[in-house]
Amino acid sequence: MSDPKDRIGAKYEWMGRDELTAFQSQALRQSVTQAAKSPYYSRIFTQADIDVDSIVGIEDVTRLPFTTKDDLRFSYPNTMLTVEPEQVVRMHTSSGTTGKPTAIFHTQEDVDNWAELMARSLAMGGATPKDVFQNMSGYGLFTGGLGLHYGAERLGMWVIPAGAGNTARQILLIRDFHVTVIHATPSYAMHVAERMLQEGEDPKSLNIKMAALGAEPYTEELRLKLQDLYGFKAFNSYGLSEMNGPGVAFECPYQNGLHVWEDSYLVEIINPETLQPVADGEVGELVLTTLRRTAMPIIRYRTRDLTRKITADCPCGRKHVRLSRFVGRSDDMLIIRGVNVFPSQVEEVIMRHEWLGGNYVITLTTKEALDQMTVKVEIAKSGFDGSMLTLRRLRDELQRELKEQIGFTAEIDVLEPGSLPASEGKAKRVIDERD
Ligand SMILES: [Zn+2]
Repeated sequence: MSDPKDRIGAKYEWMGRDELTAFQSQALRQSVTQAAKSPYYSRIFTQADIDVDSIVGIEDVTRLPFTTKDDLRFSYPNTMLTVEPEQVVRMHTSSGTTGKPTAIFHTQEDVDNWAELMARSLAMGGATPKDVFQNMSGYGLFTGGLGLHYGAERLGMWVIPAGAGNTARQILLIRDFHVTVIHATPSYAMHVAERMLQEGEDPKSLNIKMAALGAEPYTEELRLKLQDLYGFKAFNSYGLSEMNGPGVAFECPYQNGLHVWEDSYLVEIINPETLQPVADGEVGELVLTTLRRTAMPIIRYRTRDLTRKITADCPCGRKHVRLSRFVGRSDDMLIIRGVNVFPSQVEEVIMRHEWLGGNYVITLTTKEALDQMTVKVEIAKSGFDGSMLTLRRLRDELQRELKEQIGFTAEIDVLEPGSLPASEGKAKRVIDERD
């Protein structure tokens, strides 16, 4: 399907709008036909009375049923598989919180296409074959390891599969092998910077020019803080194992939203309550259909991620639609005293304060039948004069700003640097101990 000479999918990257739409229509037909070969979709399509041949263009997608995380669990281990087991070359599972994982399968063609998407993303951010790439992400079933790894190799970079954790070794490798591009979770990138600052070293001295940051939601404020600390350009990377993993959407040099690779994913934004499409530009739940996957096409997958489409043309000239920074996940939304709160709202306030470090934990408890929210933060190594008076003033200021943001008063616990558990992968930001 893909031209082996087009290693990073340039022919897809620069498709015009009409060309993309025509490609998507044909790819959707193929994807639905392929999906119907699996026991799962064959049954679902029959139940919903869907004639596969009646799916002609992308406008027909709304007639197809949604697929949810529970459907994937239900199909475990492999009733969504559409090919003979001997054609499968790899599987990944999603990082499930409870119960059965969800398994995703790939043929050689799928793995090749995924590498191409990831290589295309990194190249869009400015990475070239001359760069040295350190992948500071966990390997194994988690897709952030092999996903970025194969993409970076496809691009032709020198790849260091450092994996997650062991901060001292990460810093050593970056220095000794002149690493110019890294991939990490934003919380881990912050942790590495803080560790260096504590040891009197300047993260800028590492000379990293580009970072791909993903796998957990984070705010613009944290991006700016990381760019400032390291002096690199940080790009938001979005993906989910159900849709391969990383390489679904990535930022271009304008850093003004993430281009979704529409040759591979059909994008819908729906109202999670009514399941109807929202108006263009409105926030809703992202729904994706795979367009180029063979072993396991997924139709109308409800990602639970909340975002909106940016409809204006991007100055970079790419026609692939942009998604705005993710608001959060519909499952991450906390209901505190009847108010909807996203951890990202709290993070936004924390990141505005120079005297605070990047790490934080939100603890929810019940006190006299009322929800209580405590935000634990750490003082930054620099930017604080150590006086109790300053501390009290800063804490009051933080409390007031938080109240403006979320509508009620939270307890603030200011801790010594390094008091909170350091995150080496996805940070655990919320501890809910309510009755
Ligand atoms: Zn762009």
